[in-house]
Amino acid sequence: MTFTLALVGRPNVGKSTLFNRLVGKKLALVDDTPGVTRDLREGQGRIADIRFTVIDTAGLEMATDESLQGRMRKLTERAVDMADVCLFMIDARVGVLPADRVFVEILRKKNAHVILAANKGEGKAADVTILEAYALGLGEPIRLSAEHGEGMGELMDVLRPLSEQFEERARMDAPETDVAVEDDDPDAPRVPTRARPLQIAVVGRPNAGKSTLINKIIGEDRLLTGPEAGITRDAISVMTEWAGSHDAEPVPMRIFDTAGMRKKARISEKLEKLSVSDGLRAVKFAEVVVVLLDVEIPFEQQDLRIADLAEREGRAVVIAVNKWDTEDDKQDKLRELKEEFTRLLPQLRGAPLVTVSAKTGKGLDRLQQAIMKAYDVWNRRVTTAQLNRWLTGMLEQHPPPAPGGKRIKMRYATQVKTRPPGFVVMTTHPDQVPESYKRYLVNGLRDDFDMPGAPIRLTLRDQG
Ligand code: GDP
Ligand code: GDP
Repeated sequence: MTFTLALVGRPNVGKSTLFNRLVGKKLALVDDTPGVTRDLREGQGRIADIRFTVIDTAGLEMATDESLQGRMRKLTERAVDMADVCLFMIDARVGVLPADRVFVEILRKKNAHVILAANKGEGKAADVTILEAYALGLGEPIRLSAEHGEGMGELMDVLRPLSEQFEERARMDAPETDVAVEDDDPDAPRVPTRARPLQIAVVGRPNAGKSTLINKIIGEDRLLTGPEAGITRDAISVMTEWAGSHDAEPVPMRIFDTAGMRKKARISEKLEKLSVSDGLRAVKFAEVVVVLLDVEIPFEQQDLRIADLAEREGRAVVIAVNKWDTEDDKQDKLRELKEEFTRLLPQLRGAPLVTVSAKTGKGLDRLQQAIMKAYDVWNRRVTTAQLNRWLTGMLEQHPPPAPGGKRIKMRYATQVKTRPPGFVVMTTHPDQVPESYKRYLVNGLRDDFDMPGAPIRLTLRDQG
């Protein structure tokens, strides 16, 4: 786990420029044309060996009407809520302006962890601003020049202890990889409270409708879609609050988009390769992977590969069949799809398959529910007491074989991790246990503890 850094400040202080520098690519378009950048944008930032997620709030300049203040406030508040740390930027060349104080207020109210930076600090004019900036009461300002790359060392010095703090926290949160017998706490929540937005990747073949789907979810035409070649998009991921249905509580989600980069690749023979590696990266970031299929050509080789990859990476998987609006014989088609799913992706047994129309929005509420369910299953924790009652039953029902006359005795089981659920069974002769018996246990776990589709990990350990 890394931390999330939000770049906040009024328009034109250099947020996008810094974002580009931190992300290391021309991801955020820096342009004087209003409306080029919009809403929140995210990327994976890096200074030396410190890695983090950066959120850029640039793009406020597009709102030229009277709602500018309101929009600015809302966007910043959203970013602050999502972030662990806020980098509040001012323009060192013009000094502290009243508009800057609006942000100070927001940050105070939100009790945000703030790093103050005076950008465009390369010249002498900045000296005065640095002094003014102290008066904001946000601590010592860092003098930056996003454009010229100055001050990155200072920024690094401030971020390093934070990064270590988050790593430490992640270690403490991380599931044990070794056998640890836990206290059985029947009141323990099955799903940990989610401090961060749920991370989703939408993967699938070109033209499956990924962009259309993401647009529909975020409810604006933010990602450009269409059959025209060469449309480029520059977001790696988008943040949204997705209320599946009108009366449902909106769920903060971060959706990794894999279509954008692919569209940059004009050279057609590279197309497939690129979209697979894009998908790969998105899969690694995600908690839930939505494999989007085109109902016209479902379960193509590429779809199977990415679904398998998601399973092997231990992600929760949801299969969504898109363009359902074009299907006439829905009943027959659904039966056929389910049959193909079982046959071609047995490793994802029980994972949800939902039909959607990204174009009309039909089925998106069910997709959201499926995502939440898959996430829930992925986080499931079974108590050791429950597990051992279960194991006893499994062994009675089907005793392990005795290969070469060696008696396999399974003593006990324990869950050693979640996300995805991982179990260890202590046994004699672990290397003699046939794959089929392991499968029997894994399928049993899935069925008996209501973990359909979960990429369950089962390790047999020699009890010595
Ligand atoms: P944003 O609206 O906060 O995202 O600001 P931009 O990143 O778009 O930058 C606004 C303008 O300031 C652009 O013309 C940048 O080239 C310029 N700029 C950004 N950082 C620096 C800097 O460190 N020094 C100078 N001199 N100009 C900068
Ligand atoms: P991507 O390459 O996966 O991002 O696919 P796009 O979102 O660009 O969609 C490719 C094409 O399929 C576009 O022409 C969309 O209009 C069309 N499309 C996407 N979703 C649907 C849908 O649910 N129904 C129909 N009929 N067409 C769709």
